[in-house]
Amino acid sequence: MTTGLTDAARNPIPETGLESLAESLQGAILRPEDDGFAEATLIWNGMIEKIPGAVVQPVSVGDVVATVNFARENDLEISIKGGGHNIAGLALSDGGVTIEFSEMRGVDVDVSTRTARVQPGCKLSDVDKATQAHGLAATLGFVSETGVAGLTLGGGFGYLTRQFGWTVDGLLEVELVTAAGDVVRASREENEELFWALRGGGGNFGVVTEFVFELNPIGPEVTAGLIAWSAEDSDAVTQLFRRVTESAPRELTIAMLMRNAPPAPWLDPSHHGQPMIAFAICHTGSPEEAEADLAAVRSHGEPWADLIQVKEYVAQQSMLDATQPKGMHYYWKSEFIASLSDEMLSDYRAQFDGLEAPANQIVLFHIEGALGERPEDDGAIGNRDAAYVCAIASMYPSEGSADTNKAWVRNAWETLRQYSTGGNYINFQTADEPDDRIGGSYRDALDRLARVKAQWDPHNLFRVNRNIKPA
Ligand SMILES: Cc1cc2nc3c(=O)[nH]c(=O)nc-3n(C[C@H](O)[C@H](O)[C@H](O)COP(=O)(O)OP(=O)(O)OC[C@H]3O[C@@H](n4cnc5c(N)ncnc54)[C@H](O)[C@@H]3O)c2cc1C
Repeated sequence: MTTGLTDAARNPIPETGLESLAESLQGAILRPEDDGFAEATLIWNGMIEKIPGAVVQPVSVGDVVATVNFARENDLEISIKGGGHNIAGLALSDGGVTIEFSEMRGVDVDVSTRTARVQPGCKLSDVDKATQAHGLAATLGFVSETGVAGLTLGGGFGYLTRQFGWTVDGLLEVELVTAAGDVVRASREENEELFWALRGGGGNFGVVTEFVFELNPIGPEVTAGLIAWSAEDSDAVTQLFRRVTESAPRELTIAMLMRNAPPAPWLDPSHHGQPMIAFAICHTGSPEEAEADLAAVRSHGEPWADLIQVKEYVAQQSMLDATQPKGMHYYWKSEFIASLSDEMLSDYRAQFDGLEAPANQIVLFHIEGALGERPEDDGAIGNRDAAYVCAIASMYPSEGSADTNKAWVRNAWETLRQYSTGGNYINFQTADEPDDRIGGSYRDALDRLARVKAQWDPHNLFRVNRNIKPA
């Protein structure tokens, strides 16, 4: 268990100061004994055991400013909860103050400029539903319950990344409350260096109170779904994945995964628990183009299930939600991969020999395309040499064997990391990742990030994150 307890977190929250703060806020403050506290502090990874001393639920930028000032003046740890999906539990402070944004989930779409103003408590589904009402979309991730804030600040990728790049490549502007309690805006024209850092540098620089995204025409219908085969065919299926992804148009994105088959209604019961290999697919072109581009996939072998169909993009965006229930224990490792060799695919398949864990999986997300067309230093996310994200993931109940599951992830990672670009995804880092993995994520951008941190948060008020130490 990791608590992340720091000296500042141990400072008691001054009662009279908190009462004054409560009087000045439009939103609520919850203490551990209050109704609603448990819900406000519920996060996705059940492995995390942190209890904030107080939760502030802002409804305005003014509430955020008052809370940041209160935490700074009383030397309290402060954390920010967007969607609460960070695997390291970075949404919560242990003993300090957590800003919880569930009361700020508005999305304002401007069809004429193809932009969306997004509040910091939004889940991906909030944005997808609002933008898809106009046939538009921002580049967001694969599970609709994930928070827009954390995903964006760490870079972000999803089904649209091949066409439009990292999520932050479509970020136009943010509004931010700084460590000093000032409200500033950052974009390519204003506070440019801060804007560079926010595009990948996480929650290190302040509290974002508004994101402005560029939108692109998508759907509302796409050709998408899942196709699965027996893992006995995994030699050919992994080759198929490589062949198709290496020549696929950018409208087609495939994520390949191997695991033991879940007890899902779309699988014949005889397959439940049996080793499976599957593609999650989204094609944003016309149905005719999709049919042609997916012909080799859909005619391959004898699939256990083929759920690919013309469907709403928002439905595809939530297709994988049920596979990631809140409260289970999760442990991951990730690497960016530039290309798939025979050796790599063979090592990938070998991780499943004799695997008994029902839900452990390795996903290879194809992301190559638009992100590689920008300069490496266009935003702190970098990693523009990545063509695939390799995510090694275990999921087990609280009474499950943490040691066995973590060991499987670590062993698979030890084998597969030799194929890495050298980069890994900051948003997939667990609480026990050593600091050098942060350097592994940012690579050449780390020193520059440390200088921006020194300018905007010299005393490291915002440190419940993958922390960048001020230079
Ligand atoms: C099931 C699942 C699926 C995922 N799929 C994808 C995917 O497809 N693509 C992808 O790119 N990532 C994906 N991720 C990773 C995801 O991007 C990170 O977990 C991210 O941290 C989630 O954001 P959140 O707002 O839910 O996180 P939280 O846990 O609420 O916050 C995480 C961090 O973000 C910072 N933060 C949050 N809000 C703010 C704010 N307003 N201002 C400043 N800092 C803030 C906090 O400091 C904290 O450190 C997935 C994660 C999960 C659990």
